[in-house]
Amino acid sequence: MKEQFKPLTVLCVAAHPDDLDFGTAGTTAVWTGDGHRVVYCLVTSGEAGGDDPSLPRTEMAKIRKREQTAAAKRVGVTELHFLGFPDGAVVADLTLRKAIARVIRQVRPDRVVTQSPVRRLDRMYSSHPDHLATGEATLNAIYPDARNRFAFPELMNEEGLEPHTVPEVWLSGTDEPNIYIDITGTIEQKVEALLCHKSQLDEPDKMDNLLREWASEAAKAGGLPPGSHAECFRIVDTT
Ligand SMILES: [Zn+2]
Repeated sequence: MKEQFKPLTVLCVAAHPDDLDFGTAGTTAVWTGDGHRVVYCLVTSGEAGGDDPSLPRTEMAKIRKREQTAAAKRVGVTELHFLGFPDGAVVADLTLRKAIARVIRQVRPDRVVTQSPVRRLDRMYSSHPDHLATGEATLNAIYPDARNRFAFPELMNEEGLEPHTVPEVWLSGTDEPNIYIDITGTIEQKVEALLCHKSQLDEPDKMDNLLREWASEAAKAGGLPPGSHAECFRIVDTT
């Protein structure tokens, strides 16, 4: 008998608009293409991005939310949560943990994708303090906050959000990957998604090559056939 297809719900949590498009959008496109539901949660609105002092930061936040929404659509994602924490000042404190735990209880994902909380000494940009804090807070929100009915009891008592256990987390930006996802069929979509972040790209023409180069390196590291593209993650069992 044919096994019945069960669509998964995946929640991707990242610090800034564009993080997911640099990092994981190829895999997202694979999943949405297969009929799974992917939801984005952005901790900040990216208002510290760009270098134009004449542009009010509130305006930049609006632009970046629009860009992220368009990029998400390109890879099949139409549900987005923007938490509005200050860009450049994200701290893995109880306020952020509660905000992420709330989204986890609302979305009730089978899988969470987030940024690695571990600093890499070989890659400055992937270890932006907001990324590390987002990864740390998300892991804490998964265990124990979202699953423990006594954590942030007001989530249940005032908002009716029942506890939820996330069984697995996929960390991006890690130097200890244990899975490589073949994105050869979706690299085009990934490039198109990244190009939606116009306000952040000084040299958009170089992005296509850059993403393909990174994805080729990942594919090679993962032992995929020559010509393949990949994204890599560390899967953490959180059952
Ligand atoms: Zn970032």
